[in-house]
Amino acid sequence: MSIATIDPTTGQVRKTFDEMTDEQLEAALARAAAGFDALRTTSFAERARWMNTVADLLEVECDGVARTMTAEMGKTYASAKAEVAKCAAACRYYAAHAERFLADEPADAGSIGATSAYGRYHPMGPVLAVMPWNFPLWQVLRFAAPALMAGNAGLLKHASNVPQTALYLDELFRRAGFPAGAFQTLMIGSERIERVLADPRVRAATLTGSEGAGRAVAAAAGRNIKKTVLELGGSDPFVVMPSADVARAAEVATVARCQNNGQSCIAAKRFIVHTEVYDEFADAFVARMAALRIGDPMDDDTDIGPLATERGRAEVAEQVGDAVAKGARVLCGGEVPDRPGWWYPPTVVTDLTPQMRMYADEVFGPVAGLYRVDSYEEAIEVANGTDYGLGANAWTRDPDEQQRFVADLDAGMVFVNGMTTSYPELPFGGVGNSGYGRELSAQGIREFCNLRAVWIG
Ligand code: NDP
Repeated sequence: MSIATIDPTTGQVRKTFDEMTDEQLEAALARAAAGFDALRTTSFAERARWMNTVADLLEVECDGVARTMTAEMGKTYASAKAEVAKCAAACRYYAAHAERFLADEPADAGSIGATSAYGRYHPMGPVLAVMPWNFPLWQVLRFAAPALMAGNAGLLKHASNVPQTALYLDELFRRAGFPAGAFQTLMIGSERIERVLADPRVRAATLTGSEGAGRAVAAAAGRNIKKTVLELGGSDPFVVMPSADVARAAEVATVARCQNNGQSCIAAKRFIVHTEVYDEFADAFVARMAALRIGDPMDDDTDIGPLATERGRAEVAEQVGDAVAKGARVLCGGEVPDRPGWWYPPTVVTDLTPQMRMYADEVFGPVAGLYRVDSYEEAIEVANGTDYGLGANAWTRDPDEQQRFVADLDAGMVFVNGMTTSYPELPFGGVGNSGYGRELSAQGIREFCNLRAVWIG
């Protein structure tokens, strides 16, 4: 795929970019190795100062960066500005906490014949980050803030449709004071990733994106015995039980499904509702979904912009078409608008069966699947009935039932009476085909560290 900014509201190519030559790529890898050497010997205090400057720059430049993201992938300008603010907050969080998260872990020295014994976190080296377009700034900062605070260098291979955001990031860390080579963008297509992973200077990789991309990068990393963290898709359940605040659940469900024009790995995608409250929830949810305003993502009144890519829109339309052809009912939306650009309306589909693609696959657009269940056990069976396991939502005011959901939902994250959200304070990641490893929290910064055992006699 060529590297280009294509306006998702019209489908017109706005700007194209050349890939790096092999010589430029080699120079970047050499800079990454030198950048790592420079960074790993700096103190936490120096890195924290630079990381806080990254946050300052993001805050000062928020409007411009947000406009670039909206232009490249169609998210609403309001949500793009919120994304920039969230990135700045994550930078400050790791600037404040990295040293504590990576403090030595004392062992019982006496019992193993040592005068002193502990585990010490060391950075691993340059880490390749293969990142998607849906949160073009946040996905990268979520990796880069902890990785650089730990003393690693970052090499970003961004999605081919967000090159201007990628180039902004290329300069951001250097402008904030980080050593040259500590963070760089590689302008390359995905077919050159294997060559980067095979390079001995690159020590590990992280990928956020589709299952297919995850399998490819993990396989290439495996061939080179390099660690990976994978954050792949999800088909998150959103379970509503009889004791829930149903009106509130329907309100949050709409946001949870349609955030980022429906293109979020942790968006709630399957709405599993107990029969006692099914009609009440369905009426409120469909009314809210149908009332969302589709339009220019730069406009403050817009709730839903276009999908980011032509292929992505085609995939969503095919998934809904497949379900309808096999007997599903559309309660709202479901028609591709006849206009240029990659629009798709908020849609609710019900009467879904396992024969339909939508039943188990991730739908990356504002399309909700609605399921009726008769019991807690059936809710769990449907909720856990996919190969994914990223986030899961349960709505119930019964404390015992809340704890049952926490224990029984097969997911990396369980949110009760609220929608799945990434917070720097909480680990983020999935199980099953949603990937492995954790981002954010203390766990996230430790993923790309060598925990070295030290024994001193
Ligand atoms: P991809 O997974 O294809 O893109 C994500 C990143 O992986 C991009 O940088 C891409 O580069 C790279 N990539 C793609 N294929 C390979 C490969 N074979 N080897 C190495 N790197 C690769 O996402 P798409 O845009 O194609 O979206 C497809 C689906 O993926 C969505 O419908 C959704 O289900 C899921 N997805 C999930 C995301 C999440 O947040 N978990 C984010 C985005 C998508 P390039 O752009 O150059 O192809």
